Amino acid sequence: MQVDADVLRAAVVELFVALGASEETAALIGVHLVEANLRGHDSHGVGVVPMYLASLKAGGMMLESELRLVSDMGGMIIFDAQRGVGQVTGHRAMELGIERAKDHGSAIIGLRNSHHLGRIGHWAEQCAAAGLVSVHFVNVVAGPFVAPFGGTRARLGTNPFAAGFPRAGAEPVIVDFATSTLAMGKVRVYRNEGRTLPDNALLTAEGLPTNDPNELFTTPPGVLTPFGQHKGSGLALACELLGAALLGGETQHDGTSDPAVINSMLSIIVSPERMGTLEAFGGEMAQVLAWMQSENNDHPGRVLLPGEPELATRRQRLDEGIPLDPTTLGQIVASAEGLGLSDLQFQRLTQVN
Ligand code: NAD
Repeated sequence: MQVDADVLRAAVVELFVALGASEETAALIGVHLVEANLRGHDSHGVGVVPMYLASLKAGGMMLESELRLVSDMGGMIIFDAQRGVGQVTGHRAMELGIERAKDHGSAIIGLRNSHHLGRIGHWAEQCAAAGLVSVHFVNVVAGPFVAPFGGTRARLGTNPFAAGFPRAGAEPVIVDFATSTLAMGKVRVYRNEGRTLPDNALLTAEGLPTNDPNELFTTPPGVLTPFGQHKGSGLALACELLGAALLGGETQHDGTSDPAVINSMLSIIVSPERMGTLEAFGGEMAQVLAWMQSENNDHPGRVLLPGEPELATRRQRLDEGIPLDPTTLGQIVASAEGLGLSDLQFQRLTQVN
C-alpha cells in the first residue's frame, strides 16, 4: 500500500491526540515520523508507533513531561527530559541551542533521559536550516542489543551519530547513522517485509552468525554487530560516554531495561558566521564535495553525498506515496486497539483494498 504523506501524518496526530497528547505534541510526533518515512528510514517512521505505545503503557514515555532545565551556563545547557516524548524534547532543546549558538557562536546542549529521539539527522537538519553546523552523539538505553567488537554478548545500544553541514543554495550535507551494522528498526523492517538480512549484521543469542531477522526478537534476543569493526565499536562507546555519561544521563551498564527506549544526546552547534569563517567554510566545502564526487572516464561512478539518498527518496515518496506493508500497519492497529482505541484512520487504512 502507498499512503500519501499528509494522510499518514494526520493518522499519527489523530492517534496521539486520542491517547491524550496535546495537538502540538501530536503534530511534532507526526512530522518527525512521517519525515523519517519520506526520507526512506522506515525503521524510524510510523513503524515505531507500537514501540511508543508499549512504552507509554509501561510508563516509560511521558506524553507531556516538562523539559527540566538542569543548568544554564549561557553557551552550555543541560536539560533533563524526564522521559518526555523525544520529538518534543529534541525540538525544544534544538530551538534553544540554535538561539544560543547564534548569540555566543556555539552552544553545547545536553539532553538527557529523553524518550526515543527518533531519526537523529532530524536534529541536524533543524540546526542546518538555521545556518548552523552541528554534531550529535546519542546513547540508547534499551536492551542492550549490540555486541562490542571482539565480543558476542550485547552490551550497548545502537548509539547513533549525526552531523549536519548547511550549504548556501543547496541542501545540507547530513551524516546520520546507527553505530551498529543495522539499526534495530531496520531489522524489524526486514522481518515485517519477509526479507533476509545481509551477512555479518546479526548473531543469534548463542553468538552464531545469522541472516534471519526473527533472531533479534527471540527470548533471549539475538545480538547486533557494530559497523566497521573496532572503529564503529569505538564510536558507539564515544556516543555512550559523550551522549550520556558526561551529561549525567542514564547509561547502558547492565542487561536490565524496561520497554522504553531512552536516549541522551550531546549536541554541539556552531555558527560559521559568528566564527568568521562563513565564506571560507562554504567555499572550501564546495571544493571538497566537488572533488569527492569527481570521477574520470575510466571510472564513471556516481558518488553520493550523505543526505542525498534521503532527498531522492523524499522526492519519490512525496510523489508516489509512502509504502506501508500490511504487517507494520497491523502492528500499529493492534497496539492502538490494545489501548482501547477504535475508529482511527489507521484502522480505516486496513480496509483499503
Ligand atoms: P544508514 O545505514 O541508512 O546510513 C544513513 C547515512 O548514510 C545517511 O547519512 C545517508 O545519507 C548515508 N548514505 C546512505 N547511502 C549512501 C550512499 N550510497 N552514499 C553516500 N552516503 C550514503 O542509517 P542507519 O544506521 O540505518 O540509521 C537509520 C536511522 O536510525 C538514522 O536516522 C539514525 O539516526 C536512526 N537511529 C536512531 C536511534 C535512536 O535511538 N534514536 C538509534 C539508532 C539509529
